[in-house]
Amino acid sequence: MQNQNLLYQFLSLTCGSWRNAFYVDCIDCPYENSHCGGHLLTTDAEGVPFILSVPYFEEITGDKVDKFECAAIITKEAFESLFHRWLSWNVTKPKECSILQILPEADNHNP
Ligand SMILES: [Zn+2]
Repeated sequence: MQNQNLLYQFLSLTCGSWRNAFYVDCIDCPYENSHCGGHLLTTDAEGVPFILSVPYFEEITGDKVDKFECAAIITKEAFESLFHRWLSWNVTKPKECSILQILPEADNHNP
């Protein structure tokens, strides 16, 4: 998917604002991905996680994301326990951060 499609999908799932997304904070990314940090999480109509990295989102929108204005701030661990079943089928590289692995391909934080 291209940037505009991703953005359209993301905004339709978050009722038009990143403030309705959850902020997933991977502060101490355990996989030495120094470029891993903040991510915006929503789900699609089927409940599948849909994540964009904050730097990517800011780049394509020109907006600034304030994590304290998001619907919630959760840790990577909380995200992984919430979606553990889905992740076990969709994350293939055990040595890389699960969040980075499920970013859309166009997101430049996708490894
Ligand atoms: Zn990470």
